[in-house]
Amino acid sequence: MSEIYVSDPIHPDVLADIQAAATVHLGYGPHKVDYLDISANIDAVILRAENFTRDIIAASPQLKIIARHGVGTNNVDIDAATEHGVWVTTTPGANSNAVAEHVFALLLSGARRVPTAVSRVHAGNWSEGKADLIGFELSGRTMGIIGFGAIGRRVAAIAQGFGMTVLACDPVATEKEVTAAGARLVPLDVLITEADAISIHAPLLPSTRHMIGAQELARMKKTAFIVNTSRGGLVDESALAAALTEGLIAGAAFDVLEAESIDMKDPLTHTPFPHTTIPGLVLTPHIAGQTEEAFLEAGTGSWAEVKLVLAGHAPTHPVNNALSPANA
Ligand code: NAD
Repeated sequence: MSEIYVSDPIHPDVLADIQAAATVHLGYGPHKVDYLDISANIDAVILRAENFTRDIIAASPQLKIIARHGVGTNNVDIDAATEHGVWVTTTPGANSNAVAEHVFALLLSGARRVPTAVSRVHAGNWSEGKADLIGFELSGRTMGIIGFGAIGRRVAAIAQGFGMTVLACDPVATEKEVTAAGARLVPLDVLITEADAISIHAPLLPSTRHMIGAQELARMKKTAFIVNTSRGGLVDESALAAALTEGLIAGAAFDVLEAESIDMKDPLTHTPFPHTTIPGLVLTPHIAGQTEEAFLEAGTGSWAEVKLVLAGHAPTHPVNNALSPANA
């Protein structure tokens, strides 16, 4: 029987399927194992947030596939996986709609001051100070989408439903594709000066780290609102804190942070968590992709990739080539 390591909770129906077909080791819960204690015998990993470094991959001689439950692969050393003949796969699109809808949960929270309003009501204050809870509407405003991939395109469609004009910047998307999606392809510097709401959906790469920094924030409208559901590190958070404190932009809502531990089993335990004191910043703890629907799709998709590879086939959505000549 194959041995499979599941790093973090996945959909219970999918876990039941895996347990019926393989010996499963869990990286969470009461039966949590330490991966390095069992790595010698593991054939496949279903990975959510744990870091799979070169050392961990090297300590996994039987490993054939690291199936990411989701799309980001910045917690896997892809080069090391390729060198060791290990496929790395993703489940593209599984949580795109979940993340896109969360963008609007965040944007509307900020636009309508929902966190402040809720905390005031919880404190027993219904109408006092209500006059300063004046929000703004999305209709008629401009949404700027940085990264016009699966999630960015879904955000564009929803934004149009709100009556927003959509700008997009993406080094790969063509003008034809962007226009067909009802948006206008513009360079980043145009997007940041013209957009009322800016939503980031580019991947975190060395070249995109701090792509929104002090200079970009200074060029945004004073009324601009910025949402990041992509990856911490795309925005320079010190610059963001300064921009919000100085009123250079109106607000921000983030689901991801630079200091966020990529290990969701130990999320944000560093206390005090400084970002909560930044004025105008709405935070959620990396939950944008977490819906029942997305969970089932990502779980089913990652398990399907594992089954293919363990049966000796190539996976459907690889991000590397484990059969590259270097491994022949
Ligand atoms: P995708 O690969 O479909 O799209 C990413 C797009 O970004 C591509 O079109 C690419 O060309 C573009 N891009 C690359 N460099 C760019 C740059 N410098 N400027 C502008 N665009 C650039 O990916 P996706 O499925 O849309 O996911 C987007 C991001 O969302 C990923 O980073 C992923 O990790 C993150 N994500 C977060 C959550 C969450 O729970 N918060 C869940 C899922 C995905």
